[in-house]
Amino acid sequence: MLILREPRVTLIARPEFVPPAHLPVEWKGEASDGERIAEFAGRLCYMSQHNPAGRTTADYLGNILRQGHGSVFEHAQYVLLLEGISRSCTHELVRHRAGFGYSQLSQRYVDESTAAFVMPPAMQGDAELEATWIRQMEEAQAAYVEAVEQLMRRYAAVEDRVHRRKMAREAARSVLPNGTETKIVVSANVRAWRTMLELRLGEGAEAEIRRVAVAILRVLQREAPALFGDFEIYRMEDDTEAGRVGFHKV
Ligand SMILES: Cc1cc2nc3c(=O)[nH]c(=O)nc-3n(C[C@H](O)[C@H](O)[C@H](O)COP(=O)(O)OP(=O)(O)OC[C@H]3O[C@@H](n4cnc5c(N)ncnc54)[C@H](O)[C@@H]3O)c2cc1C
Repeated sequence: MLILREPRVTLIARPEFVPPAHLPVEWKGEASDGERIAEFAGRLCYMSQHNPAGRTTADYLGNILRQGHGSVFEHAQYVLLLEGISRSCTHELVRHRAGFGYSQLSQRYVDESTAAFVMPPAMQGDAELEATWIRQMEEAQAAYVEAVEQLMRRYAAVEDRVHRRKMAREAARSVLPNGTETKIVVSANVRAWRTMLELRLGEGAEAEIRRVAVAILRVLQREAPALFGDFEIYRMEDDTEAGRVGFHKV
């Protein structure tokens, strides 16, 4: 049985800016396409493409963040693949609606008899807790396999094999624990990511989603430092990581 102890976050799509030739901006400094889209949108509002203050993209976006203007951040979208994340964690994640899109592994279609399980951060490092938890996951997985077998027998008369399996798996999944690993593609615009990160990096957030939020933040900060650089990651008293936003959007 595969036990996962941390999430895997992979960037699978980033914005591509196609600058309009008839409205050229006097860019200063290096920037990614996502950052340039936000700057372009901001400058359009005041027709300041000539960059009168000679600001770099990072300075320009920093100023917008400071002022709390969120809408120009809605034009740049980043798509992440999240793996090594539990079903209970994605249940919390998908509560973020505005600006988000999701596609998640289906437990009705996919066979979970060899599923991996995500060990909660609170269990990790304590040999007794870990051993008990692993045994419980093994028992749950065995229960799932048994339920699928029984249900396949019950629905033996259903001719369509794919449909029969789906009927069995959708009922058998009821015995799988919240810790079952899932995979999910999450797309969101920068404004939406910033809102989600602010909430889920906080010390009050559940430990696994906080750990996922930290991993997401690291990916997005590498991608677009001018859009996410004001977030700070720090260690809490219990030595786990949390984060705080520099410029809160009211
Ligand atoms: C520490 C913590 C504990 C939590 N505990 C619980 C819990 O016990 N039970 C529970 O059910 N949930 C819980 N939640 C989830 C929480 O209630 C929200 O569902 C989740 O954080 C998403 O926040 P949101 O609605 O602001 O986000 P989004 O859906 O991303 O929305 C962002 C913003 O857009 C606006 N918006 C979005 N949709 C609407 C709308 N329909 N109408 C008007 N404005 C809208 C709001 O301003 C909203 O803040 C918890 C969250 C956290 C961070």
